[in-house]
Amino acid sequence: MTNNIKCHKCNREIPENETFISRGNTLCEDCYIDATHKIRVCNPMGERAKTAFRKSHGLGGTDGLTDLQREIYHYTQSKGKVTRPELLKQFKLSENELENNFAFLRQSKLLKGKKEDDIVYITLWSNQDQ
Ligand SMILES: [Zn+2]
Repeated sequence: MTNNIKCHKCNREIPENETFISRGNTLCEDCYIDATHKIRVCNPMGERAKTAFRKSHGLGGTDGLTDLQREIYHYTQSKGKVTRPELLKQFKLSENELENNFAFLRQSKLLKGKKEDDIVYITLWSNQDQ
């Protein structure tokens, strides 16, 4: 039995047990992170909290991602490595949206940033397939 609730900020439908409350508004995880800035990219505490959260909810791999996050992941997977401008163009995102989604994917240990010759690429967290 799942009651889907709409995120106050991005209007995405989210299962009731994945909602967060911030200042009286019901938010999805991404918007909650965005709103509170409690979990940041490169914050090991946040990463642990996220891993524990996902474990406690039985999430793993790309389960529990939004369609967009899954598409970004698969797009990155098919390309091997991508740049932010490439993703912005491909998925018609604002930089803020991209950062939110990338932060989530990074904390889920799916994607990571990688610097090569002064260009920061986004690649798979574990680049050992193929
Ligand atoms: Zn939202």
